[in-house]
Amino acid sequence: MIFYKTEAEIEIMRQSCSMVEQAIAEVAKFLKPGVTTKQANDIAERFIRDNGGIPSFLNYKGFPYSACMSVNDAVVHGFPDNNVLKDGDIVSVDIGVFKNGFHGDSAYTFAIGEMDERILRLMKVTKESLYRGIEKAHHGNRMGDIAYAIQDYTERQNGYGVVRELVGHGLGRSLHEDPQVPNFGKRGNGPKLKDGMVIAIEPMINLGVKEVYYDNDGWTVRTKDRKPSAHYEHTICIRKSKADILSSFELIEKAERANTNLNSSYTASTHASKTKEALSSDVLVM
Ligand code: MG
Ligand code: MG
Repeated sequence: MIFYKTEAEIEIMRQSCSMVEQAIAEVAKFLKPGVTTKQANDIAERFIRDNGGIPSFLNYKGFPYSACMSVNDAVVHGFPDNNVLKDGDIVSVDIGVFKNGFHGDSAYTFAIGEMDERILRLMKVTKESLYRGIEKAHHGNRMGDIAYAIQDYTERQNGYGVVRELVGHGLGRSLHEDPQVPNFGKRGNGPKLKDGMVIAIEPMINLGVKEVYYDNDGWTVRTKDRKPSAHYEHTICIRKSKADILSSFELIEKAERANTNLNSSYTASTHASKTKEALSSDVLVM
């Protein structure tokens, strides 16, 4: 059953999402080679509790931590641990906050230090695919329109693997509500998107094959070929002409750019490659 949100409920959810953004930004300030994801988890948890929120994931169906920290071949639901992060690692930080009766949910993938260009490109394309999905997330469209936009860009245009076993979701008073929000599908298929529907869109995109497996801990989802995977997530509300994005990456990106131990060059390289294309067209005209 889909629970459509009132205007007041949407504003409460925006506040929960804002706390998620701030918690992920706190993690972004902290990440560097030599620290652990367990330390990062504790920073996020303390921030959420100090601000009157409850970490949504802690004890959810028995999940033992406040944040999911998925490193390299871990796709999602990674356990924070005491392994130190090193140059070339990527870590997907997924956080939920419950406050005033409603959840917010968002995720962001960070690159630690010196990075392989192919991995930076995976991150860039995955993040862009989230916004391509959001562009389709308005009243009158169907879920398959979001799904198709993400799959077409990541899989067909860029040759990456789109995870099939895990999907985004509705959310509100519960962390997971109807409908499901897959990252693969056909245009014009699936549930109709209606004003007041709040969903988490969260592409999970693998550098290699789409196949995944569960780690021995029963939670961590890993890529079958052990290649890295990226994950970005926004909580959005379906509106008449365009989605209202309730979560935000603004503070996260600001912290990411300010942290010299993180590689945020993939945003810069987007602009660089556009300039290059523009220059070569100019040359052809001559
Ligand atoms: Mg999440
Ligand atoms: Mg989610």
